[in-house]
Amino acid sequence: MNIKKLKQAEKAFFKLYPGGFNHPEMSPVAYLVITFTMLVDIDHFMSNPVYDPGRCSIGFHPLHGVFPIALYVLLCFIPKSRYIGIGLVIHMLLDSLDCQLTNGIWFV
Ligand SMILES: [Zn+2]
Repeated sequence: MNIKKLKQAEKAFFKLYPGGFNHPEMSPVAYLVITFTMLVDIDHFMSNPVYDPGRCSIGFHPLHGVFPIALYVLLCFIPKSRYIGIGLVIHMLLDSLDCQLTNGIWFV
């Protein structure tokens, strides 16, 4: 993994979203909902090995496929599921960035 690239990506993310998830205007409910969307990685338990640092999640795991990602984007536009959608889309973007930094591809 290229640590320098990762640090640059992290800096770029926090420029776009100052304060990250600790922003004072973010409600605790939104914070918790977005945090719990990280449980989408539960689909890794369907793989063997469960964790492979060189594997690209996007397009490999069932909840990281094209159709689920389209659903996550759709959830962003429905007010009651907006935070879930935002959390899942952020998760997929970060997983895709991880693929790019480790394998040089955005998805498999
Ligand atoms: Zn993931």
